[in-house]
Amino acid sequence: MSSPFRKGARPHGVAAAVLALALSLLPALAGALELPRARSVPGGVALIDLGPALVAPQASVDGVPVLVSGRPGGWTAVVGIPLEAAPGERVIEVQREEGPAARVSFAVAPVRYAEQRLQVAPGKVDLSAQDLARHERERMRSAEVIATWSAAAPETLRMRPPVPGRRSGSFGLRRVFNDQPRKPHGGMDIAAPTGTPVVAPAAGRVIDTGDYFFNGHTVWLDHGNGLLSMYCHLSRIDVKAGELVATGTRIGAVGATGRVTGPHLHWSVMLNRTLVDPALFLADGGR
Ligand code: ZN
Repeated sequence: MSSPFRKGARPHGVAAAVLALALSLLPALAGALELPRARSVPGGVALIDLGPALVAPQASVDGVPVLVSGRPGGWTAVVGIPLEAAPGERVIEVQREEGPAARVSFAVAPVRYAEQRLQVAPGKVDLSAQDLARHERERMRSAEVIATWSAAAPETLRMRPPVPGRRSGSFGLRRVFNDQPRKPHGGMDIAAPTGTPVVAPAAGRVIDTGDYFFNGHTVWLDHGNGLLSMYCHLSRIDVKAGELVATGTRIGAVGATGRVTGPHLHWSVMLNRTLVDPALFLADGGR
């Protein structure tokens, strides 16, 4: 890779003047994106200041690439924190264009999400061998989707709601069925009647669509740099894998497919393969 900013480049005369001009224009040309709301808790997003650099530093957490946003005047690592993370110190690895990799630590504060205890008929929570096998296949497919990383930066880090409606079923809700803890709720539920259009909350590319045992008809979007989003329980899907969508493009309609009790949209947002609270990406803070 050749770059005029690499070590060893010694610009003189006109070249130096051009370089100086280019640098003076860079901040204006490459405006920094508005960042999501920071909430350094399990299931939240940490914003870590990486300082100025001509070339965006690369960052990773547990070997998974992390979204870095900004401009030469200042870069920020936008890190998703797993719901199952323990509060305390977490570390990202930062690789700048020059110099060795650095470890940058940040604090994760504790959070107590609401708990929902339900007593349900055993048949409702224990899957048949056939359903279990199907779910296992789907889990492997999801793992592939989740590993998507595209080099193009997201157009925006602030999203519009994918569907209007009451936002119920809070992110992080701890569900306990028959005294057995289940996976916490990894998204935002928005109540809306079947058939209500679901739109892309930000520009992206359709990674995958499918019909899943739990999630029903599902669409996955890639917004760039590991920022992904998922839409579940759709009554119909209006896009195909590989398609590019703009903010506001219809991708499907609200439904009640999969394991649900009524029509609603389940919306998940992922950063560095980690489910994070979609409310942090909404301009109105999700309220
Ligand atoms: Zn949900």
